[in-house]
Amino acid sequence: MSLSSISPKFRVAICGAGIGGLVLAVTIGKFAGCNIDIDLYEAHDAITTAGAGVSLWRRATEIIEELGMHDEFSRVSTKPSSSHGLLFRKSNAPESFEWFRYIFEPCGPSNLHRQHLVDILKKNIPSSCTMHFNKRLTKYDMESSGSLVLHFADDSTATADVLVGADGLRSSVRKTLFETIDPSIVDPSKIRYYSDPSWTGALVYRTVFPAEKLSKIDPNDLALKEFMVFCGKGKHIVSFPVSQGTQINIVAFVSDQQKSGTPFEGRWVSDVALEEVEEAYSDFEPDVKRLLKQILQCSENPSRWAVHVVNELPLFTCNRVVLMGDAAHAMMPHLGAGAGQAIEDAFVLGRLLAHPLTTLDNVPAALKVYQDVRLPFAQLAARESERIGYMYDFCSPGYYDGTDSVNKREELEILKGKIIGLRDWAAEGGAVAEWVKAESRLQESLCPERRENSVLCSL
Ligand SMILES: Cc1cc2nc3c(=O)[nH]c(=O)nc-3n(C[C@H](O)[C@H](O)[C@H](O)COP(=O)(O)OP(=O)(O)OC[C@H]3O[C@@H](n4cnc5c(N)ncnc54)[C@H](O)[C@@H]3O)c2cc1C
Repeated sequence: MSLSSISPKFRVAICGAGIGGLVLAVTIGKFAGCNIDIDLYEAHDAITTAGAGVSLWRRATEIIEELGMHDEFSRVSTKPSSSHGLLFRKSNAPESFEWFRYIFEPCGPSNLHRQHLVDILKKNIPSSCTMHFNKRLTKYDMESSGSLVLHFADDSTATADVLVGADGLRSSVRKTLFETIDPSIVDPSKIRYYSDPSWTGALVYRTVFPAEKLSKIDPNDLALKEFMVFCGKGKHIVSFPVSQGTQINIVAFVSDQQKSGTPFEGRWVSDVALEEVEEAYSDFEPDVKRLLKQILQCSENPSRWAVHVVNELPLFTCNRVVLMGDAAHAMMPHLGAGAGQAIEDAFVLGRLLAHPLTTLDNVPAALKVYQDVRLPFAQLAARESERIGYMYDFCSPGYYDGTDSVNKREELEILKGKIIGLRDWAAEGGAVAEWVKAESRLQESLCPERRENSVLCSL
C-alpha cells in the first residue's frame, strides 16, 4: 500500500501561525507524517514577526534540536559566553553602580531575531500542512459529532476534527471556548476574566538596531557584547546582542503596579517619538541616557507595547478544542519565557496528537493529558515572570524599594539572592522529561490495564 493511500486519522486546524502554531505543525509533521492532516489558519496575509529579538533557553532549544533544526538555528543565534551572564546595574541616579553579574547555569540563552526563527520554522513546515492566509477566526461551533465548524472574518467557514488555539493574547478560540463552556465547569461570572486579556500596568519600548552604528560611536560600549539589565524604580531596560552580534535588541519597561488589571486606554501597540522614551528614563544614570539617545538616533522609531497577559485559566482544553502558547498563558516577558513555553506546549501537544494510541475517539483524553502536564508549569513560569519583573523595578513588597536608605547595600544583597533564585526556575527538567511523563500518562489513560499494572507495581 502506498503512503498516499493511507487515510489520515484526523484533521487538525491550528489557528495562528506564530512561533507556537508553527512549531506545532512541524512537530505533528515529524512524528505523524501524513497520518494527520493539518490546516494552519493565519489572520494576516503572511507569517509576521511581532517584536524584535527573542531569547530561547535550554528547555526550548532542546526541542529545536529534537525537531532536527539545530544546525539552521545555531547559524542565526548568538550565545553569550558562559562567563558573561547577565550584568545588572542599579541605574537610577544619583548613585549608580554595577550591582551584580548572574552567571547562566547550566547554560545561557540563545538570542536571535524573531524573523530568523520564523524563517527556519517556515522551511520545516511539513507537506501534510496546508497554509491559509487572511483567515481570521471569529468563532467556532461544535457539531453533535464533536467536529468543529470554524467561522472566519471573511464569512467563510471550514471544518476540523480538532481545533488548536495558537492565536495569541487576544485568542478568538479562548473567547469562544469560555463563552460556550458548560456553567457547571466554569463559573459564568468569571467568563470575561478568563477570555479577555488583562493589562499589567506596564509599557515596553522595543527596538533592534545595527551594532555597527553603535560600535562607530563607542567600540567599548557594554551593550555591544553584554546581556545588560539596567534597573531603576518602576522601570528597567534590557539589552542584548542578537543575529550573531550584528544587531542589538533593546526592551525598556516602565511599570505602574497600581494600574495592573485596569483597562488600557489607547492602542496597545504604537510607534512613539524618541522624546517619549528619553523622558521615561530621564532619572537614569548618564551613561544609560547616552546609550538610549544613540540607539534611538540610529534605529527606526521604537514601538511601544502595553503589556497584557492572560489571567490564570482553570483549563486549557474542552472536548476537541485546546489552547496553547500565548492564547493559554500570555505572560509578562521578564523571564524571556513566553515563546519558550509556547514551544514546549507545541512539542508536548504535537507528540500527543501524533501518538499511535491517539485516535479521533479518544482525542479529548489526549488533550487532557497535555493540559495536566503543561498547565502547572506554564502558569508557574507566568507567576515567576511577574515576580522577577517587580524585583528588577525595585517594586517587590518586602524587598529593596529603590530609595537611598542607609541599608541600601544590604537590601540590594538580599534582593540579588532572590533574583538569582528566581532566574534558576528552569535549570532542571525540560521537553524530553515532560514528554516522557505525558506519554506514560497517555498510556495509563487510554489503556486501563496499564494503569492497573502501575497501581499494582506501586503497592
Ligand atoms: C517585550 C516582549 C519581549 C519578549 N521576549 C521574549 C523572549 O526573549 N523570549 C521568549 O521566550 N518570549 C518572549 N516574549 C514572549 C513571546 O513573544 C510570546 O510568548 C510568543 O511570541 C507567543 O507565541 P504564540 O505563537 O503563542 O503567539 P503569537 O506570537 O501571538 O502568534 C499568534 C498568531 O496568531 C495569529 N492570530 C491572532 N488572532 C487570530 C485569529 N483570530 N485567527 C487567525 N489567526 C490569528 C496572529 O496573527 C499570530 O500570527 C516577549 C514578549 C514581549 C511582549
